[in-house]
Amino acid sequence: MEKMTLRDIDVQGKRVFVRVDFNVPFNEEGEVADDTRIRAALPTIGYLIDRGARVILASHLGRPKGKPDPRFSLRPVAGRLSALLGREVGFAGDCVGPAAQDSVRAMSDGDVTVLENLRFHPEEEVNDPEFAGAMASLADVYVNDAFGTAHRAHASTAGIPAHIPAVAGFLLEKELTSLGMLVSEPAPPFVAIVGGAKISDKIGVLERLMARADCLIIGGGMANTFLAAQGKDMAQSLVETDRLDVARGLLEKVAREKMDLLLPVDLVAAPSRDQADRREIVDTDSVPEGWMALDIGPRSVELFGKRIREAKTVFWNGPMGLFEVSGFDAGTQGVAEATAESDGVTIIGGGDTVRAINQAGLADRVTHLSTGGGASLKMVEGKKLPGVEALNSR
Ligand code: ADP
Ligand code: MG
Repeated sequence: MEKMTLRDIDVQGKRVFVRVDFNVPFNEEGEVADDTRIRAALPTIGYLIDRGARVILASHLGRPKGKPDPRFSLRPVAGRLSALLGREVGFAGDCVGPAAQDSVRAMSDGDVTVLENLRFHPEEEVNDPEFAGAMASLADVYVNDAFGTAHRAHASTAGIPAHIPAVAGFLLEKELTSLGMLVSEPAPPFVAIVGGAKISDKIGVLERLMARADCLIIGGGMANTFLAAQGKDMAQSLVETDRLDVARGLLEKVAREKMDLLLPVDLVAAPSRDQADRREIVDTDSVPEGWMALDIGPRSVELFGKRIREAKTVFWNGPMGLFEVSGFDAGTQGVAEATAESDGVTIIGGGDTVRAINQAGLADRVTHLSTGGGASLKMVEGKKLPGVEALNSR
């Protein structure tokens, strides 16, 4: 990797500011409902503790709109981290100013302190240089281990590295090597599967993958727009009418350059999202009047699955249907199984897609689950991430 990582620097006795992604969901009792993201940061935190660093952790949580709001406090997260580490974890009521300075001054080697939510300050999201400088003054070294926000130029991602040496943590390093491989040297055949609700979020990714992948598979809601662009009547299905030209343009390019593109050959349709019991498997040109396509059909699963199983590299982003509703989840489940069964390198990105593979119980059978939705798509698009660019190069 071109960027420096934790392994490249001496952290013994140093104050290390670690940008983590502790943006976790809470339950109604205000407890951490899912600590996956906290656990994901443990390798970096543990490494620093073992080497006697003073570990200062900073994250955003939710959307507090630039002012303190107790509903978005990181205090319960510090509590959960303490339980996971089996040691005391300090908490500072602010990420800059006296509260932060006093907490850091009180730390000894090997101590861990969580700073309060970065987004309690409007300066965070506009990458205010003074605010970044104030955070940098708390530490000797900066570590970015928050891949999910690396595509945003915020003070805690792109700003702090202007002031102190900055390197990648282990989680960020894993993301960069796994996703970087897709862009630089995917082993052929490289099969990419893109789904989800809309094309509009993913045009750049689709264009890039058309050029890079040996086979591009399109499913989910976005396939409806492509099928409509081919002149098919999608009835009440989700179709982006303002993207029909884009879809047509992409299809023409595929035909012109003889690219391998697969669209669904059958669909699961129903009168509405909450009438799964009335669902029927239909051909792509036979969605009944007034009905909507909410999943890909079994023949599509078989067609897609065959290519996925034979692939040496698989990238998947976007569910094949309304997988949250039982009855419309079989397509997503089928693609998840094919991906798990492939013995190539398999990489999955996207919040909902990761949820789907967890729901399918197959998460441990893929090579890499990316923790960052937007950031992973940006990488696959071949774009630079400001939070990564800011780090020191080797
Ligand atoms: P990711 O978060 O993995 O990037 P997206 O957010 O792009 O994925 O898309 C996921 C959403 O798309 C899910 O909520 C899913 O229900 C929805 N979806 C997929 N296919 C359809 C469809 N045919 N009709 C309506 N919604 C769909
Ligand atoms: Mg999503």
